[in-house]
Amino acid sequence: MSTCIFCKIATREIPAKVVYEDDRVLAFEDTNPKAPVHVLIIPRRHIASLNDPVDDPALLGHLLAVGGQVAKEMKVDETGFRIVINTNADAGQTVFHLHVHVLGGRVLGWPPG
Ligand code: 5GP
Ligand code: ZN
Repeated sequence: MSTCIFCKIATREIPAKVVYEDDRVLAFEDTNPKAPVHVLIIPRRHIASLNDPVDDPALLGHLLAVGGQVAKEMKVDETGFRIVINTNADAGQTVFHLHVHVLGGRVLGWPPG
């Protein structure tokens, strides 16, 4: 999608601090981190949110698996980390290209605000 900021990050039109990539997904540091470790993982193809029909459940599984891998690489696997997918306005979704947040490096309150 030509106007989507995360599509532009996926094609490297917009720079990002990329920490992992493969043929299906890209992981990069959030520009406004909410924790010492805050990485976003996106599918390369445009999917607006989990409200879209899930035509590729394996891709969703891969996003989570990469989340675990990134947490390990960022050394928050032993202390703990959280995977978040905000969906639509009440949950605080601001970018409508599906993304997984990986948050860690501090104690995370529960339940989230
Ligand atoms: P949401 O609120 O949609 O769940 O999360 C969007 C996230 O994307 C926010 O944490 C925000 O800081 C991050 N973000 C927005 N624009 C950019 C950008 O251009 N580059 C990067 N790296 N992160 C962004
Ligand atoms: Zn997009």
